[in-house]
Amino acid sequence: MPALEDLFGALKFDHLAAQCDALLEQAAKKDLGYRELLTEALACEWRGRKQKGTEVRLAQARLPWLKTLEQFDFAFQPSIDRKVVRELSTMSFVGRAENVVLLGPPGVGKTHLAIALAVKAAEEGHRILFMTLEQLMTKLNRARKENRLDRQLQQLTYPKVLVLDEIGYLPLSRDEASLFFRLVARRYERASIILTSNKSFVDWGEIFSDPVLATAILDRLLHHSTTINIKGESYRLKKKRKAGLLNPPKEPLPAEAG
Ligand code: ADP
Ligand code: MG
Repeated sequence: MPALEDLFGALKFDHLAAQCDALLEQAAKKDLGYRELLTEALACEWRGRKQKGTEVRLAQARLPWLKTLEQFDFAFQPSIDRKVVRELSTMSFVGRAENVVLLGPPGVGKTHLAIALAVKAAEEGHRILFMTLEQLMTKLNRARKENRLDRQLQQLTYPKVLVLDEIGYLPLSRDEASLFFRLVARRYERASIILTSNKSFVDWGEIFSDPVLATAILDRLLHHSTTINIKGESYRLKKKRKAGLLNPPKEPLPAEAG
């Protein structure tokens, strides 16, 4: 019979190999039955693989920073319906290849929520990728110049969740808008996009330099989607204000308040 270590090696049971002694010791202490021990051993390997998979997916995701839903203070942002976020956090939208659009002024937590949902997706086993609109455009423009646009677009359909951050800060040329449209059309009903924007949908014609293209983009983006419109104060400014670095928000005049 081959040695246990060799079997772990042949089966690539690295996590169990590392934990085996501790697990056996525990099993003896707890007086586990064979079946329970086998279950614990396989569960150990399975947890280890899952954890490793998540780490690899997060390393490939190019997230600018790590944030979780647990770190989000919903009390600070009452315009966000927690039920909607809770439903999104089940990740069923990823299974249905639906999109999420996060709208609102700077600092209200759009990127935080987008990252947190993407992290959750990675934990659930989905490939994720994060890009600002600027990074996306640089990538697509370069691919077009180098005659490999089609391959690049195809590659961008592989992640089950693609975060496109900061739509609306930079206006796009018509050419760029049409590249953006092609990406959205490729992913439509295949894989999810989580998009953040500081502009409301009525202003998208301006961002994309072309109202017809903007409508076509919105049509595909919003067909199966959840929009969260955050109407609140900037979290960054609030912290500064607390530290006394900024003036308090203006009180309404007595006549207005009346
Ligand atoms: P936006 O993308 O809307 O401009 P961010 O998501 O970048 O805003 O948020 C700015 C900073 O404030 C980030 O560090 C983020 O983690 C934090 N933040 C924003 N809103 C909240 C919140 N409700 N609870 C906890 N942290 C928040
Ligand atoms: Mg942001």
